[in-house]
Amino acid sequence: GNGGAGGGKEERIYVSVRVRPLSSKEIERKDPSDWEVINNTTIIFKNNLPDRSMPPSAYTYDRVFDYNCDTRKVYEEGAKEVALSVLSGINSSIFAYGQTSSGKTYTMNGIAEYFVEDIYDYMEKHEEREFLLKFSAMEIYNEAVRDLLSSDSSHLRLLDDPERGTIVEKLTEETLRDESHLKELLAICEAQRQIGETTLNEASSRSHQILRLTIESSAREFRASSLAATANFVDLAGSERASQTLSAGTRLKEGSHINRSLLTLGTVIRKLSNGRNAHVPYRDSKLTRILQNSLGGNARTAIICTMSPARSHIEQTRNTLLFASCAK
Ligand code: ADP
Ligand code: MG
Repeated sequence: GNGGAGGGKEERIYVSVRVRPLSSKEIERKDPSDWEVINNTTIIFKNNLPDRSMPPSAYTYDRVFDYNCDTRKVYEEGAKEVALSVLSGINSSIFAYGQTSSGKTYTMNGIAEYFVEDIYDYMEKHEEREFLLKFSAMEIYNEAVRDLLSSDSSHLRLLDDPERGTIVEKLTEETLRDESHLKELLAICEAQRQIGETTLNEASSRSHQILRLTIESSAREFRASSLAATANFVDLAGSERASQTLSAGTRLKEGSHINRSLLTLGTVIRKLSNGRNAHVPYRDSKLTRILQNSLGGNARTAIICTMSPARSHIEQTRNTLLFASCAK
């Protein structure tokens, strides 16, 4: 490791954990928290279960955000430096990983908005350069890719371009006018994501969403010095999908496909964090193919693992923390 979100040449993955507050339902049903955060980097499982069935244990990450941290803090300390590397022409990916209802969407949408604020600030301060900011959004459901900015729900193909890597064919790219334009586009994505699903949670628990901002810039005077890079904000399918065995029919198919993207991502991230020159199986899932140029190599990656502190979620929370430990 290089100790912090910046630093050495060998960029490793920056891994943080965010604990959401107990929900009012959890409080109502007296579902207590057995977790304590210390030193902003360690989360401790206290040995206070009624039957003492699980031993106390401590997990340490680059950063742990307790329930009282707001999303701005999570952005500033868990994502900003990695995401803003696009201003130096370096691709980046920020992931939210965790079980359904642990706070992935809450965290990722906030982070994307703070990021765009920072980008606009930067553009205002650098009048010597000309900028072009483009936004696109897609969903991967059942290993099929859909454009979240288009009402046409047909599946998009992935193409291999010798220069640009994997391209999502016919994906809508909107040129951003300003920050409120981003909010409009995010609302469209949210609406698109719900189509065909009974509830938002159903849709988001099974699908991966990628919000993608591409920044191109060139010096007004010396046109040659141009930069282009992409930042990806990835709201992953609920991590319970990686462990759950589903019974039959379409459910099983959906389950196994989501397993494929989540499991492949897990393998890719483990191989990258081991830092050896092992074969990285990017091509084994749609998610990792699409993100290949923004993972590993020169790219920067941060993962924010979200968790509920409630005792009833202990099994999934431990799975999430183990995933986070492997990514470090
Ligand atoms: P997920 O996307 O992982 O399924 P959500 O982001 O939808 O979970 O969060 C579930 C619920 O918890 C939502 O109602 C959300 O507003 C709330 N929530 C999540 N994280 C926080 C937080 N840090 N502070 C306050 N409310 C939160
Ligand atoms: Mg969600």
